[in-house]
Amino acid sequence: MSEGEGGSCVFCQVVAGEVPSQEVYSSELAYAFQDRHPVAPVHVLVVPRQHIADASSLGPEHAALLAEMLRVARVVAERQGIRERGYRLVLNVGADAGAEVPHLHLHVLGGRRLGWPPG
Ligand SMILES: [Zn+2]
Repeated sequence: MSEGEGGSCVFCQVVAGEVPSQEVYSSELAYAFQDRHPVAPVHVLVVPRQHIADASSLGPEHAALLAEMLRVARVVAERQGIRERGYRLVLNVGADAGAEVPHLHLHVLGGRRLGWPPG
């Protein structure tokens, strides 16, 4: 799917409000919502409003957008009460990483001690 083409992309539909989601934070460029299948007490996804396939599709033209996603992640961590204790930011790319939706999404994970390396 090319950029800007919402179509059947489920996260484009979430951003457009066509698929229901539990909003955590919203900004002009990004949207944060609860993961439907949380793997930690706090598990929020931060997605760009614009369709981008994954982190491997990012270029210099996305610098401001990426900075905004990281800012939103920090706001999410504050609102979810995990900023002090710490949290993990994850970008999965491709099948081996378990990426399921082909729309860039930053996982904000926390609320418990997270193992390293990931299983
Ligand atoms: Zn999309």
